[in-house]
Amino acid sequence: MIKITLPDGSIKEFENGTTPMEVAKSISEGLARNVISAKFNNTVVETSTPLNTDGSLTLYTWNDAEGKKAFWHSSSHVMAQAIQDLYPGAKLTIGPAIENGFYYDVDFGDQKISENDFKKIEDRMLEISRGKHDFQMREVSKQEALDFYKKENNPFKVELIENLEDGTITFCDHDTFTDLCRGGHLPNTSVIKAVKLMSVAGAYWRGNEKNPQLTRVYGISFPKQKDLKEYLEMLEEAKKRDHRKLGRELELFTFSQKVGQGLPLWLPKGAALRERLENFLKKAQKKAGYEMVVTPHIGQKELYVTSGHYAKYGEDSFQPIKTPNEGEEFLLKPMNCPHHCEIYNHGHWSYKDLPKRFAEFGTVYRYEQSGELHGLTRVRGFTQDDAHIFCTPDQLDSEFKKVIDLTLYVFSSLGFEDFTAQVSLRDPENKEKYIGSDENWDKAENAIINAAKEKGLNYIVETGEAAFYGPKLDFMVKDALGRQWQLGTIQVDYNLPERFDLTYKGSDNEMHRPVMIHRAPFGSMERFVAVLLENTGGNFPLWLMPEQAIILSLSEKYEKYSQKVLNSLENHEIRALVDNRNETIGKKIRGAEVSKIPYMLIVGEQEAENGTVSVRKHGEGDLGSMTVEEFAQLIKEEVNSTLKTFEV
Ligand SMILES: [Zn+2]
Ligand SMILES: [Zn+2]
Repeated sequence: MIKITLPDGSIKEFENGTTPMEVAKSISEGLARNVISAKFNNTVVETSTPLNTDGSLTLYTWNDAEGKKAFWHSSSHVMAQAIQDLYPGAKLTIGPAIENGFYYDVDFGDQKISENDFKKIEDRMLEISRGKHDFQMREVSKQEALDFYKKENNPFKVELIENLEDGTITFCDHDTFTDLCRGGHLPNTSVIKAVKLMSVAGAYWRGNEKNPQLTRVYGISFPKQKDLKEYLEMLEEAKKRDHRKLGRELELFTFSQKVGQGLPLWLPKGAALRERLENFLKKAQKKAGYEMVVTPHIGQKELYVTSGHYAKYGEDSFQPIKTPNEGEEFLLKPMNCPHHCEIYNHGHWSYKDLPKRFAEFGTVYRYEQSGELHGLTRVRGFTQDDAHIFCTPDQLDSEFKKVIDLTLYVFSSLGFEDFTAQVSLRDPENKEKYIGSDENWDKAENAIINAAKEKGLNYIVETGEAAFYGPKLDFMVKDALGRQWQLGTIQVDYNLPERFDLTYKGSDNEMHRPVMIHRAPFGSMERFVAVLLENTGGNFPLWLMPEQAIILSLSEKYEKYSQKVLNSLENHEIRALVDNRNETIGKKIRGAEVSKIPYMLIVGEQEAENGTVSVRKHGEGDLGSMTVEEFAQLIKEEVNSTLKTFEV
């Protein structure tokens, strides 16, 4: 008999040689129907692999990331078979599962493949799936494996096998198809009920441009037709919400090849939006006891050698700036923290002065590879809503809670409701990896967990995920499409206070080290605006909208009245503009809808006479006619419903 430990901690006895599928059946028939892959002692196994030792077993279904991986990995075998059937002589190379679906890199030789061929490949794949073929692993010797692919005339697989150790090589068979594979498959092909080929692209063998060019065929598959339909709808919606597209349409930001890749240029409307976000946070921070500071974009190389950032970013980032003075070198700042440490060092502090909270919208520069750059989410220059809190170890608890309060205030004012937090702790088995005393780590970790609990956060704890210098709390938001984004972060730091020799005089008259907290509720202005755009589809909360209302005149005759309405809106601090173009009202309304301006105020003869406006709301329609005063009241109420005052 063997003892199998299940994820809930329960231990069950089975006969030696029991398979994961049989374990699933012993739990419930429902689970057995849904289980698609398994891990035994943290190693991927087949659901049909006989288990011969005691160990812990995890069973995965479609709802688990591991389950999807097995599903898509298996689907890539099926696609490879379909391709070989339809394109005799096509040579297979590698075909992994990816975040959404799978791909296979294929050498099609003289044959060409395009989107027009997708349908017949999909049809063949479904035909194979319906055959309900088991995926079966078998061990082969290196010689057998080489012989197999030499006979197939496939130099790619031969090269892969040459790099493998004899005795570790396995093949996977299903139907008439065989592939070199390490394992992790569905029980059989029949669970693949829906398939879709997504695209083809060029790819070099092993990513090296000196090697032959292959064709990468991307696909995705699902256990239900309905899942595929939903996925395609989500893709459509995601395209509409792509922040790069919306940023262009709403005239928020642009990039210039001349200025340089990854260096965003904020257009007037985008800059105004950013300014509103900054002012919003500055106001709350002031209440929370932060002091604004300003520091330069560069610093002496020595500064970053002291902070350790040079060791981390030096080689792979922007190189030092030289001056006419021999040996003098400056770096574009990759982080604001070293500057803030020196601001702290400017004063002599006693425990009564702490905490000190220095805040700055500080722009930093990091050299991201050009292939990694993506709109505003991955850039080479960005502005952090940065702040550093210097406090005594005893103040850590309350400071942490205050930062969480501020972060939650930011999220609620911007309509982020669906978010989670991740608490990252050190690995207790590997304490030597981390700087700082046991006592301080315990204090900080407890402070974070207590704060997360007390503030009612929906959080998960990840052991071993802390930075070497301290534990942290990250906020992740989900957008309307269920995609996860990392935003704000709060990090405890025991390292920089040491490196910069930061001190304060304690109540015992001795000098002590303060603890440092790095925090940024937005993360960076660039990333935050990108996430906000994708989350809201450009329909920001009213208080943040570049324009809150647009006045649409029925004809040029009402230009004067339009201007009068505009003036009174401005007196109410409502951001508005007038569309006096000689166009039909229908066209003006459509224009305003595309610009996502929340309120349209239509004015004509009747309105001019009665001193009213006819109000239309974006995406909702007619709200009827009202006086300008009434409209201003409506706006104020809507703004106040999301943008509350920050209470300390
Ligand atoms: Zn496989
Ligand atoms: Zn920092």
